[in-house]
Amino acid sequence: MKILLATEKPFAKEAVEGIKKIVEDAGHEFLALEKYTDKAQLITKVAEADALIVRSDKVTSEVIDAAKNLKIVVRAGAGYDNIDLTSCSARKIVVMNTPGQNSNAVAELVIGMMIAVSRNCFNPGTGSEIHGKTLGVHAYGNVGRIVARYGKALGMTVYAYDPFIRDKKEFEKDGVIPAESPEELYSKSKYVSIHMPANEQTKKSIGYSLLSLMPKGGVLINTARKEVIDEEGVEKIFEERSDFKYATDIAPSCSEAWKEKYGFRYLATPKKMGAETAEANINAALAAAGQITAFFKDGTTKFQVNKF
Ligand code: NAD
Repeated sequence: MKILLATEKPFAKEAVEGIKKIVEDAGHEFLALEKYTDKAQLITKVAEADALIVRSDKVTSEVIDAAKNLKIVVRAGAGYDNIDLTSCSARKIVVMNTPGQNSNAVAELVIGMMIAVSRNCFNPGTGSEIHGKTLGVHAYGNVGRIVARYGKALGMTVYAYDPFIRDKKEFEKDGVIPAESPEELYSKSKYVSIHMPANEQTKKSIGYSLLSLMPKGGVLINTARKEVIDEEGVEKIFEERSDFKYATDIAPSCSEAWKEKYGFRYLATPKKMGAETAEANINAALAAAGQITAFFKDGTTKFQVNKF
């Protein structure tokens, strides 16, 4: 089988070498298209691939149409909103992600951002400590759980809300207090860190009504996706409350204007950096290659995210 690694933003050298080894050791052929600048290059190259590994690369219906031999796509990472699941499912192409492989990297960035905004983004002046404060974890998945653990280690009282976790013991076993609703979470938490996927249900779900419930000095941290934010609602809070702060790993289109207007109350990474560590790169890359070789060996679809 021909296994194509297609990455606009390339993996670290060690990660690429690791993928190649796993692929070739399993008797398959390794193809690479790194740092491509035009989607036409992907469309041409994918024509010969039986399997595809991508990062944030857009796997559109056009790409899928061109990929006549494709049987599996693996997104080396957690979010898979860059892959057209409907087109893949229509062709019975398995789509997987590599959950958990970059979670620690994202969680560490959350803590870094919490500290940065609490210290006025390192501008002169008196900041505040996060020790002894309340932290709300909105969505208790792979990243959310680590953020909760680190929050507790820093002496925070941690709340969490996740509509898909019904059993309160899932939170309580980690020393985390379950919130009954998003409203309760935002009312109790000085810091809220969001970790839900971007989908129809979550799109623009974080806005004025929730943020206005946050206690004085409320800080929102977003390492999830920009689509889940209602930017107008955030702007309204910024305007109404001079105590509100927002840190994001996924800058909105109005980022420059917000920097101008809100100064050190607003922090955005220049590019999405949550998973940008050597360790996360390597973990996700090797997991993706391993998942593909296992799929070809015995049909394992453990991390499949689409249905057909
Ligand atoms: P995960 O799949 O392990 O966890 C997602 C959690 O969201 C699940 O527990 C699920 O029950 C919960 N959820 C689903 N719908 C929800 C809703 N409507 N309200 C509240 N919770 C809901 O994913 P993860 O690995 O923890 O990653 C979380 C998100 O972070 C990803 O979807 C991705 O978009 C983003 N991410 C960003 C970076 C980055 O570089 N900044 C890196 C990795 C992941």
